[in-house]
Amino acid sequence: MKNPTGTKLRKTGFDGSGGSTHIRYDHKRRPNLIHIKCPKCGGLALAQDQVSEGNEFVGDLSQSWYESPFKITCTECPYRNEGVSYDGLTEPYHQFKGRGDILWAYNSTHLEMIYKYLKNVSVKGHPYEFYQTYIHGDWIKYKETYIKEIEKHLFKTRK
Ligand SMILES: [Zn+2]
Repeated sequence: MKNPTGTKLRKTGFDGSGGSTHIRYDHKRRPNLIHIKCPKCGGLALAQDQVSEGNEFVGDLSQSWYESPFKITCTECPYRNEGVSYDGLTEPYHQFKGRGDILWAYNSTHLEMIYKYLKNVSVKGHPYEFYQTYIHGDWIKYKETYIKEIEKHLFKTRK
């Protein structure tokens, strides 16, 4: 999946010296279900990892990273696809422009956690609680600008 914030994301120990032959990803864990932009209509498409089916998250060691486990179903047009790799995914559906780095989330549950965090609501016990360490400094620094955009988005999708 195309990372909206590119190289600014924290890397997980890869120093670029060739010490590791594995591709590094933005997060050590990704959810089993990712909300992406439909390649056809730009609407909300669900990317479901079928290798890790039944698990909420896919860890570093999962075989799924090396396979093409995603089944894509658009919720807004007839687009369907199967056998897509993580790198083959388009980009996150939930993206927000604020005054700093683009804020993005894997899916609406992840977004809800970030939103609560920015609103100073406790995320203790939230299934995505561990992702709070990946919340960018910019998102916190300029949180009012992101909160506004997220609220517009939530209102739109609840029509
Ligand atoms: Zn579509």
